[in-house]
Amino acid sequence: MYNSIYTITLPCILSAGEVLMIRKRLALLILPAIVFLIVLVIKEWEVIESYEGQAVIRHVTTSEKLIALTFDDGPDPLYTARILAVLDKYNARTTFFVLGLNVRQYPHLVRQEIAAGHEIGLHGYRHVLLTGQPLYATLRDLKRSEELIVKATGYRPVYFRPPFGFYNAALLRAVMARGYRVVLWTADMDPRDYTDPGAREIAWRVINGAGNGDIVLLHDHGGNRTQTVLALEEILRVLTARGYKFVTLTELLESGQGGKIPT
Ligand SMILES: [Zn+2]
Repeated sequence: MYNSIYTITLPCILSAGEVLMIRKRLALLILPAIVFLIVLVIKEWEVIESYEGQAVIRHVTTSEKLIALTFDDGPDPLYTARILAVLDKYNARTTFFVLGLNVRQYPHLVRQEIAAGHEIGLHGYRHVLLTGQPLYATLRDLKRSEELIVKATGYRPVYFRPPFGFYNAALLRAVMARGYRVVLWTADMDPRDYTDPGAREIAWRVINGAGNGDIVLLHDHGGNRTQTVLALEEILRVLTARGYKFVTLTELLESGQGGKIPT
């Protein structure tokens, strides 16, 4: 009943010309609104490669035979100690990108990593997609992860790697403004150990493409990481024999561009 009155009276109020004019005006308003929304979405997904002269680090140009292995998602009560033992055997240093939640559970393992001469980077509190949560939540998580690492080791991390390697401009700016250097990995140096392709396959993927200044992505947490431990032994054995030295990110960056850390 209400609907029928509405539809009958409306044409009586406005002439056909007026309706057309209103439609045109609405179109003029809607168009900029749509453009504005598109710009907002693009800004949200905008990926920039640098902020205030600092680039996202994926590789370091160096003439020295140096490689930075990195281990994400730990520390882990089963696999971190095994990885530390293999690294020690080959006198290799590495960088662990830890999760705050795991640091809270296993602070002694982070202490062991630092005590053995390795470096700690931050990977977030939980393994979540940071571009899918508000920035304030990410910064809150970073702060509490930093506090846990400082409490466990007395060391404040300076490197950050977002989970899955996903970031946007807003995240990059916020993290870099907090003093972090954002580090991902060299393009062909993700052997996808987390898909368990076999220890020999993981090792082959790294050994086959490895070169000076490469940053390799491996994992010491997330399922059964036995394949990673076995692959690590093979990677270190073969590449050490080829003259490569395995160093922390800081050592790798210092070797780059004539000894200066690139900015
Ligand atoms: Zn991860």
